[in-house]
Amino acid sequence: MSVNHRRVEEPFLVAQGRRNGSHRRIDHDAVERAAADLLRALGADVDAEALEETPRRVADAYAELLTPQPFRATTFPNADGYDELIVARAIPFHSVCMHHLLPFHGVAHVGYLPGERIIGLSKLGRVVEYFSRDLQIQERLTTQIAGWLQQQLEPTGVGVVLEAEHLCMSLRGVQKLGAKTVTSALRGVVRDDARTRQEFLALTTRTTHDQ
Ligand SMILES: [Zn+2]
Repeated sequence: MSVNHRRVEEPFLVAQGRRNGSHRRIDHDAVERAAADLLRALGADVDAEALEETPRRVADAYAELLTPQPFRATTFPNADGYDELIVARAIPFHSVCMHHLLPFHGVAHVGYLPGERIIGLSKLGRVVEYFSRDLQIQERLTTQIAGWLQQQLEPTGVGVVLEAEHLCMSLRGVQKLGAKTVTSALRGVVRDDARTRQEFLALTTRTTHDQ
């Protein structure tokens, strides 16, 4: 495989902006008022001492869960022409289900087959975290991570598998506690080449049984 050692003028890419939308602005005071209203509507005595700080805590918690940390996605030339799968397995993540405002959490397996650029392994975790800090559905989170890698690295292939437990399901008796929802987004040769796809899926499904 021949590698074009092109010089990149801007080695730092800062993840910012969300596809289909602007950054959410969180109105902390309004969230506190809404949380107090919700408690009242739920029949709670918001003047009780134990609940005094709850609206603020709720606002703090959601602000943290929904605010992504920007990061510098440094990429490097694939100087050695590495052309095997690079996979980061079982990256822990948590997010917030946009249908119930309850958390879902699990692990992400993120891999790519490099083209001319590679990215530090730890950055794959940062990408997952970045898109997790949003009101999400698991399918969208999966495709956003794959789309970002595709766009930033222009790799030969990308594979993303997410396994997550949704509290909105497991706490309400629809599913058993611990039941996992699995989603995947495969691009390029990871989707189209049977052997590569098999290799990627073998690498990622292993954790399901190991853990
Ligand atoms: Zn839900």
